[in-house]
Amino acid sequence: SEALRDGRPVELFQADRLANAAWELSLLARIDEGMRNGDIWLAYQPQWDYRENRISGAEALIRWNDPVRGPIRPDEFILQAERAGRIDALTYWVLEQAIGAAEEFNAIGRRFQTSINLSAQLVDKPGLVSSMAEIVRRRGIDCRLLTVEVTETASLHDRPAAIRNLRELQAMGFRLSIDDFGTGEASLLYLAELPSDELKIDRQFVSRIVHHERERHIVRSTVKLAHALGQTVVAEGIEDLPTFDLLRKLGCDAGQGYYIGRPETFAQLRSRYTAKGGGLRGTA
Ligand code: C2E
Ligand code: MG
Ligand code: MG
Ligand code: MG
Repeated sequence: SEALRDGRPVELFQADRLANAAWELSLLARIDEGMRNGDIWLAYQPQWDYRENRISGAEALIRWNDPVRGPIRPDEFILQAERAGRIDALTYWVLEQAIGAAEEFNAIGRRFQTSINLSAQLVDKPGLVSSMAEIVRRRGIDCRLLTVEVTETASLHDRPAAIRNLRELQAMGFRLSIDDFGTGEASLLYLAELPSDELKIDRQFVSRIVHHERERHIVRSTVKLAHALGQTVVAEGIEDLPTFDLLRKLGCDAGQGYYIGRPETFAQLRSRYTAKGGGLRGTA
């Protein structure tokens, strides 16, 4: 049994491990390089405010065009960055970039909210709050212009530590948002325990509300629940006009999705933002 590991000879197993280690090392180097040279960049997806009838913010979504492998899906390489222990550096880089965008948008004169995604791997880490505090202090930005999204489906390793961190971020002024709301196993527990200012209803519900009464009821009830808790609701994954209109009727505060705008470059979003009618298809 000494000569076999996972049913294979030991030498093969070790060759695999070496290849993996080499891949992770090169991944680390390529992530660092990508952040420097522009292979890694942020796309911004607009959010529509139903009461003000305008684009009121955007979510920063990370993109990676690897020169060799082509575009790599964010959920895929976020996972790899987590495994390789690089998610902290990546997240602080995202925060820096998003602050730059937030400053520019707010300089235009209307209030603009910029969201970033926080990995579940990072949310309970001891250094998180001090690192983020250092960045916002150095940049001199008002934290209330920034929203931090935490995905509900992700399992938190150290729940009490995550709650402490989120409370501290909230006390600094960051808006907190529960991403992909409704898809986790502990939605109500999350609501009861985690500090939050906003629920982001997952696309799986949103995409069905026009044709399915069940999802319509779920969204309507979620809106009521959130409002009763003093929180706002963003619907994600709005792909057409009927869905967009129905969400307004169901009381959603804001919406995001391809119908409003796809994730795009900062320059593209800026021209949409400054366009007449706030750049929504059909109203502009
Ligand atoms: P998410 O935070 O839930 O982001 C929304 C995802 O839905 C984005 O995918 C967006 O492009 C997509 N989407 C938006 N509107 C529509 C729509 O109308 N229809 C459809 N079919 N899809 C829509 P994306 O950019 O591929 O990102 C996937 C996930 O990767 C994100 O899900 C987020 O969890 C993660 N992610 C992205 N950027 C970051 C980051 O900077 N840090 C961390 N930790 N995670 C990130
Ligand atoms: Mg998100
Ligand atoms: Mg989401
Ligand atoms: Mg999602």
